Amino acid sequence: MPLDPATPRTPTPEGPKRTWIVYLLLGLFAAMLFSRSGPSGNRISYSDFKQKLAAGQISEVEIGKERIRATPTDETAKKKGDRWVAQRVEDPDLVKELEAKKVPFGGMQEGDWLSSLFMVWLLPMLLLAGFWMLIFRRMKPGAGMMSIGRSRAKLVAEEGTGVTFGDVAGVDEAKDELLEIVEFLSSPEKFRKLGARIPKGVLLVGPPGTGKTLLARAVAGEAHVPFFSLTGSDFVEMFVGVGAARVRDLFQQAQAKAPCIVFIDELDAVGKARGAGNMAGHDEREQTLNQLLSEMDGFDAKKGLIIMAATNRPETLDSALMRPGRFDRQVLVDRPDVKGREAILRVHAKDVKLGPDVDLRRVAALTPGMAGADLANLVNEAALLTARRNKAAVTQSEINEAIERGIAGLEKKNRLMNTREKEIVAHHESGHALLAEILPTTDRVHKVSMIPRGLGALGYTMQVPLEDRFLMTRTELLDKITVLMGGRAAEKVVFNEVSTGASDDLQRASDLARRMVSQFGMSTVLGPQAVDHLGGTAESRFLQGGTIAGDRGYSERTQELIDQEVSELCRRAFDRAVALLEHNRTQLLALAQLLREKEVIEGAELRHTLEGAEAPASLQSPDAQQWSHLPH
Ligand code: ADP
Ligand code: MG
Ligand code: ZN
Repeated sequence: MPLDPATPRTPTPEGPKRTWIVYLLLGLFAAMLFSRSGPSGNRISYSDFKQKLAAGQISEVEIGKERIRATPTDETAKKKGDRWVAQRVEDPDLVKELEAKKVPFGGMQEGDWLSSLFMVWLLPMLLLAGFWMLIFRRMKPGAGMMSIGRSRAKLVAEEGTGVTFGDVAGVDEAKDELLEIVEFLSSPEKFRKLGARIPKGVLLVGPPGTGKTLLARAVAGEAHVPFFSLTGSDFVEMFVGVGAARVRDLFQQAQAKAPCIVFIDELDAVGKARGAGNMAGHDEREQTLNQLLSEMDGFDAKKGLIIMAATNRPETLDSALMRPGRFDRQVLVDRPDVKGREAILRVHAKDVKLGPDVDLRRVAALTPGMAGADLANLVNEAALLTARRNKAAVTQSEINEAIERGIAGLEKKNRLMNTREKEIVAHHESGHALLAEILPTTDRVHKVSMIPRGLGALGYTMQVPLEDRFLMTRTELLDKITVLMGGRAAEKVVFNEVSTGASDDLQRASDLARRMVSQFGMSTVLGPQAVDHLGGTAESRFLQGGTIAGDRGYSERTQELIDQEVSELCRRAFDRAVALLEHNRTQLLALAQLLREKEVIEGAELRHTLEGAEAPASLQSPDAQQWSHLPH
């Protein structure tokens, strides 16, 4: 089916035209009321009229279709303009009587042609038309009946979006990753000749306002290709099947325009895991998602069609979306660090006149936790304040006020930590990082950050494996658990207090410990046996064909032993983490201090700060000394 290239739908002519119609209706209605009032005069009954006629009190009569109007004989009343009006009754003798009395009579026009025209023809038609308009508007804001099923993808001009990477700051890693896509889109032939594998789908993941939409537009702008953009909720329609039809149309249009980018913003609206939640519209969403998946499988990436999508809730997405050949490339668009915030401020301050006292680096230092959108908003807010104060340039005082407002807004959104929380997070993350660095078997630390990630964690420590691992020794596993315990241990060492911030660490640590005991046979109490050969969670066991409970293959007593062993392993790992951190207290405090200042510390600087930190021989091996009674 040929489709015209999604001409932006002409807006329904509402606005001025609608008010015009309303006035016309009101005017006609008033005119009608006026003319409906019929002949004026005192109302009398027909019998009264006949009596007055007989009594010779009537000098003249006008006969209408429905009424009769009589003029009194009495001269004063006649002069005053008094008239009698009576409802006409079927009376064949009336004319005779009038003739007999020699009262002149004639016909009378009741109402006028305008009102009858209005009543009979125009009013019903107008009412009908109004009714239809109302229904159409209800059905779908901005869409007429005819466009149901038609994709509402907007096609931006050939040149692309006009947005460049220069407009996006503070997300350099994401930009680097997207550069390859730009190169491919600019010259697909080159890649095709080389036989390079081209990604089909790129998923931008990150908290709201970090510039995901902006980045997608920048990719199209940099590559000078058309940009089809849709929001996930556009697909989810009232009618089952409409969303799926939209997806089909969208891909048809896009393929005709390749190389180009199809961008689905807020993918979570369509891409929610199937089978989750059973609200109305659930079937519709599922159909749409299935259509999207099959279209993604169907098209030929070599043509130069790239699907980009953005979400801030990747955890809710259907796992089928992430399979190879779909959104197999994921790009993290994180909240910016101090340097990134400064760069973003510079981008947005370009069009604003800044006073000499404004120090954007300081502004960046004052706005931890703010994303690009918050910072853009901050600059705008300061400019508005300046205008209101009739100043020529934005000074630090307006900026400060804008920051305060911004922070108040952020706190409402629960994204900003207070000072005490920041202290705790800084030490918590430093604890993980320090242990990961000094334990011999663990992966090196790539980056420590205390910028809220929006995806649950308040901070994070990123470790990179030195090599791909297929096997892990018992020592390595125990070291790993110790690192996981490092966050809480640091809180304990520094504040002699623990927080809720470690729940995810604890979860992962106990999972690992449980697998050591029940799957890997690394416990002397239970011996080298895999009591839980299936392993995993109840859910995954269910998927593998087992039943959720009752098919464990071991006794209650074994279960108790496992539990005991797990808690023993975790407790020991925690004690070891505390001992190690106590031993390196100076470095721990120094690292936390630096982290508070910089928010993000990369590997090399981290190692520099931790100079001199070490694991004493007594704590080197997880089984040394006080751990010696652990199973071998
Ligand atoms: P998201 O899609 O991640 O929610 P947007 O791309 O819609 O965020 O960002 C909204 C606005 O905030 C952008 O139009 C831009 O003005 C500003 N902004 C966000 N992130 C950045 C950034 N990294 N660099 C420059 N401006 C940004
Ligand atoms: Mg967005
Ligand atoms: Zn932690």
